Amino acid sequence: MRVFCILLQLLTITAVAVCSTEPNVPLAAQPSSHFDAAAATDAWLASVPSAARAKSDAYFEGGYWLLLWDFLYGAAVMLLLLETRLSARLRDLAERVTRFRWLQSWAYWMELAIVTAILTFPLTLYEDFFREHQYGLSNQNFASWFRDQLIALALVLVLGGIGFTILVGIVRRLPRSWHIWGTGAAIIFLIIGALIAPVYIAPLFNTYKPLQNPAIKNQILSLAHANGIPASNVYEVNASRQSKRVSANVSGLFGTERITLNDNLLNRCSPQAIMAVMGHEMGHYVLHHIYNSVIFAAIVVAAMFAILRWAMDWALSQRGERWQIRGVDDTAALPLAVLILSILGFLYTPIGNTYTRTQEYEADIFGLNASREPDGEAEADLLLGEYRKLDPTPIEEFIFFDHPSGRTRILAAMRWKAQNLCLFDRSLLCSNPPK
Ligand SMILES: [Zn+2]
Repeated sequence: MRVFCILLQLLTITAVAVCSTEPNVPLAAQPSSHFDAAAATDAWLASVPSAARAKSDAYFEGGYWLLLWDFLYGAAVMLLLLETRLSARLRDLAERVTRFRWLQSWAYWMELAIVTAILTFPLTLYEDFFREHQYGLSNQNFASWFRDQLIALALVLVLGGIGFTILVGIVRRLPRSWHIWGTGAAIIFLIIGALIAPVYIAPLFNTYKPLQNPAIKNQILSLAHANGIPASNVYEVNASRQSKRVSANVSGLFGTERITLNDNLLNRCSPQAIMAVMGHEMGHYVLHHIYNSVIFAAIVVAAMFAILRWAMDWALSQRGERWQIRGVDDTAALPLAVLILSILGFLYTPIGNTYTRTQEYEADIFGLNASREPDGEAEADLLLGEYRKLDPTPIEEFIFFDHPSGRTRILAAMRWKAQNLCLFDRSLLCSNPPK
């Protein structure tokens, strides 16, 4: 195991924390009568070499700009499709291919999805492939990456096509209230997606198998049962096929729920860190975060569809003739709908991030109470800091962070540790009033 750890350390030069059998706790974060949560947090953050910090800050801050460029580039592509009337021509082509209206909708969707994928390919290539390699986060060669892109496109053509065809049918049959029925349909798609994703979609990209290591598996199942989770298996995914990122997740709905650890986490973290992460994931499960998210999404989609209906009517009354779009029930209006939804999505960024970040913080607190591994939590937070800025300003955290920052998470862990010092050193007191 030791040899493996050393080898791994040599191979993963971006590694911040050392693959170890125990968290490497800095002096100020070790249990003592003068333990101070803020000082312990600073000590954990200071244990990251400044070059590694600068690199992950640059990677994450670059992501702020990519958010803007993605939005502007995507909006420009949609405007191009409308202004050049390419969208109207793709519709005409779909109408020549078949006389069935529902098949025309699907054919148009496929044409548009392929044209858009080609037009946005340069940005996708830079963002998902070259940039990930530039920052040493990717393990994937071009052929394997491109294969994943083609699988994703095939899913868009098939599953997206079904969704689009149904939505167009709703707009045609219910021209006055389509935004309400459309919301209902969108939520049903979302639920079906969440239900089938872990079982049918995720395995298209990675291999999932039950966790092998019996010692870790038993500890995780024991933690699950202690928290009322009727799990009999924990899954392991070969995420190292794509990247070096440490991660775990809970996915599924109505009986397809599962907890999955990625192999980077298993290979690079101490057992304490693995248990801290598992406690966090169980928090998502016990606190019903997936169900809450579906309800939240329903509210957001309803609001977006109401605005979409109004904005499409307005835009088509102004430019519909020029774009050769017959009305809101014309498939060729899709780029306009995408344009409007992307503007709304862009503005929604801080709201969506705050919603998920709040859930993530709740899961952190649950995880600390369940696993009792604040040092493992800090170790995992530093590894996550390889691709997420560790110590941002509060405004950055509010706008751009879909998880709490490393500083916020480690401070929560050290605050927990300050009140539970007796667990780590019998000579110390628990219940320490904050200093
Ligand atoms: Zn989480």
